[in-house]
Amino acid sequence: MYVAPDDEAALAAMSAGRPLEAAPLFERSAIHAYKANEMLSMKLSASLAIKAYAMAGDAPNAERMARASVDAFAAAGRRAEIPGFATRVLEMLRSRGLGAVADAVSQHISGVMGTGFQDPAAPQLPAFCSSCGAAVKPAEVVRPTPSTVACSFCGASLAR
Ligand SMILES: [Zn+2]
Repeated sequence: MYVAPDDEAALAAMSAGRPLEAAPLFERSAIHAYKANEMLSMKLSASLAIKAYAMAGDAPNAERMARASVDAFAAAGRRAEIPGFATRVLEMLRSRGLGAVADAVSQHISGVMGTGFQDPAAPQLPAFCSSCGAAVKPAEVVRPTPSTVACSFCGASLAR
C-alpha cells in the first residue's frame, strides 16, 4: 500500500493534539495517492485530512476537502466508493458539531450521485403523507435540507 513520507509527521501531529498541522500533510498525501491512482490510500488520507480539519474547527477546509474527495472518486471512475466514504465522513462531521458542513457536503454528493446516495441522516419515508394522504414517492419528495423531507403535494414534513 502506498504511504506518503509525510504521513508519519501527520500522525505524530494528530496524536500530539495539533490537527491543524496534520491536516495539510494528510491532504498532500491524499493528492499524491490520487496521482498514483492508489485510491485506497487516497481514501484513508482524505478521511484523515477531513477529520483533522474538523478537529481543528476549520469548517471551510473540512468542506472543501470533503467535496474534493467526492469529485476525485467520480473523476477516477470510482463512484461506487462514494456512498460508503460519504456516510462515514458525514457521520464524523455531524458528531463534531459541523452539521451545516455535513448538509452542504451531502447536497454536493447528491449532485454527483443523483438518487444513488441516501444521506444517513435523512428520515425514513412513510408510504403515505400523514397530512394529505398522498402516496410518497422517494423520487418526488422535497428536501428543504439533506436531513429533512417534505411532501411534494402539501409541503408537510414526512419525518416519522
Ligand atoms: Zn402531504
